[in-house]
Amino acid sequence: MGKVRSLPPELVSKIAAGEVIERPASVVKELVENSLDAGAGRVRVELIAGGKRSVRVIDDGEGMAPEDAELAIQRHATSKISSEEDLQRIVTLGFRGEALAAMASVSRLSLVSRAEGCPAVRLYVEGGELKERAEVGAPRGTQVEVKDLFFNLPARRKFLKGTGTELGHCLEAVVRMALAYPQVAFSALHEGRRLMELPPVKEERDRVAAVLGRELHPHLTEVEGSEGAYSIRGWVTLPPYARGNTRGIYLYVNGRYVRDRLLQRVLGEVYGGLLPRGTYPVAVLKLQLPPEEVDVNIHPTKMEVKFRDPQRVYELLRGALERALAPTTWSPKATAPPPPPPELREAPTPYAPTLPMAPPEERPRLRPLGQIGGTYILVEGEEGLLIVDQHAAHERVLYERLRGEEVPCQRLLLPQVVELSEGEVEALLGQREVLGRCGFELEAFGPRTLAVKAIPTLIRAHEVKQVLQALAGELEEASKDGLERARKLLACRGAIKANTPLGEEDMRRLLEELEATPHPRTCPHGRPTAIEITLEELARRFKRE
Ligand code: ADP
Ligand code: MG
Repeated sequence: MGKVRSLPPELVSKIAAGEVIERPASVVKELVENSLDAGAGRVRVELIAGGKRSVRVIDDGEGMAPEDAELAIQRHATSKISSEEDLQRIVTLGFRGEALAAMASVSRLSLVSRAEGCPAVRLYVEGGELKERAEVGAPRGTQVEVKDLFFNLPARRKFLKGTGTELGHCLEAVVRMALAYPQVAFSALHEGRRLMELPPVKEERDRVAAVLGRELHPHLTEVEGSEGAYSIRGWVTLPPYARGNTRGIYLYVNGRYVRDRLLQRVLGEVYGGLLPRGTYPVAVLKLQLPPEEVDVNIHPTKMEVKFRDPQRVYELLRGALERALAPTTWSPKATAPPPPPPELREAPTPYAPTLPMAPPEERPRLRPLGQIGGTYILVEGEEGLLIVDQHAAHERVLYERLRGEEVPCQRLLLPQVVELSEGEVEALLGQREVLGRCGFELEAFGPRTLAVKAIPTLIRAHEVKQVLQALAGELEEASKDGLERARKLLACRGAIKANTPLGEEDMRRLLEELEATPHPRTCPHGRPTAIEITLEELARRFKRE
């Protein structure tokens, strides 16, 4: 007899179940998705022992007629698609018709459902076998309970973690859905204790704050953009607000939570120069695109998707995020300066300089008052007192200059010959293009020497060697973000150090330049450039009110 044989159907469905259902949180996800697909306005999730003993989801959606309910618990039974064509344009969260069957085959599942104009039905399935079918009384909607997950797959059950861990995953599944559906009410209970109560909201921002933390509210800024049939909407936090992990990042494609590298990369790029390394914003971003432009059927739990035109997605998101982050001015309340009066907006005549548009008599928004410790500048701002870190502020100014089209550079009368190690020479010549964009002109001179013909003006001639050595170290490790790293390093090297006395004119100029940068509130490494003490806060601390 041959070795190859067909597996019995019960085993096939258990194996299939393992792909979709990994742990109680997968049950929560599948059941809540079904509730949302059924148009529920309220969804209630009840858990016992982190969902290991029981996950129950109750909704007020459209419900199922008795014969539909019986079909629904069988494999590949769905009301959501009927042809291959439908598979190209999926608009519901579910579509494979396997979740209920999968859960039923590895648990004790009971389902009570009633659709408008139909009697209510109750089904009880144990390990995939329908044990009970009864007519009952029930309100419109559906209630599914999945008890003793993996009771018949002991190997699998052993891999479940402690109650706390599983509960955490279950709640996270609810959070993902609650962020996507702010107009739906969600509640979550663990062993009778209420852990989450989210009333429906009109303003999506209120749901973001309710779920991810009330303290976020003032830091959130809206992201919006569209390009043809593609659109992006959502909320992100403004720097310097940051978290030490990526857990505040939620990305959705057509209402479906996804983990997508492309989307994550864009966030990294846009926030890269604004937040310290290893810290992340909070972001809830929702991408909408025609269903045929994205394939959601490439992953068992549909967590990954494939875009037909990734470049278009990238550009849309990048543009929208950059616009959202652009006005990171001193105070979250401060708005951009008003547009110039129309007569100044006319096309400039060949003789009229275009730059000085602001009325010359206006008082500067930031007025230096003095310096303390040779390191911090005290400034009167529009809302109160600012304490500016001169090094961080200057770093931001220089960094933006290095990002300009033409970096100011200084051609040396005689090339400066610099001796370095072979490794350093190699690293620098290998990144000659990057260094060229930062204002360096380098030529090979020998295995351990370089001829330096031009340097960025922010570097002094006597520090060239030191700076090149530092750059070599930085670029050796760099794979593709070499240019960014070089810019940050040069900005840091060129910036005024702490313990440097500054005259009033120096301070005024620095503040002016800082304010003209797109992100004056943080240095390129993400440290704050200033601390603000508002007049309100002063009044409060002096007990004036
Ligand atoms: P899918 O969601 O991929 O269609 P499921 O196995 O999750 O597959 O569900 C099968 C079918 O059962 C659905 O297509 C839907 O018609 C019905 N169904 C499941 N849950 C609900 C619910 N909460 N309310 C109404 N109908 C439901
Ligand atoms: Mg489903």
